[in-house]
Amino acid sequence: MLQQIYPQVFHNFRYELNKDMQIAAAHFIPHEAAGKCANTHGHTYFVNITVAGDELDESGFLINFQQLKKIVHGKLDHTLINDHTDLFSNTRAEDFPTTEVVARKIAEIVQEHLDTMPNRPTCVQVFVRESPTSYVVYRPKAGNR
Ligand SMILES: [Zn+2]
Repeated sequence: MLQQIYPQVFHNFRYELNKDMQIAAAHFIPHEAAGKCANTHGHTYFVNITVAGDELDESGFLINFQQLKKIVHGKLDHTLINDHTDLFSNTRAEDFPTTEVVARKIAEIVQEHLDTMPNRPTCVQVFVRESPTSYVVYRPKAGNR
């Protein structure tokens, strides 16, 4: 992708894995300050997920790339993001499906899965590009992992 960048995240883990994916999805921001974005519209989100850790699993992976795609792309692709009421809210601003919140929720989905793995990897960064000119980087704080 022409406009792709890979922002670096600093950590002390031995291994770092990055998974790219594209997610076609619709959303709307349920607030008058959002202007035109209060209307339902679509994006092809470009997502980069960074997972790090010191230990590999029994198959030599930090985490299986396909598994990572399944839990994020499999849930959000070709959906109306606002419909995922287990993740997003149309009344609480901190859970509106803005690019910022989409990045945070992806990090939470990923970390929830990583927490079930014996090698205990960590999601250290989620990059979400909403358009050729706009992107967000979310980095979970160590205390919230
Ligand atoms: Zn939008």
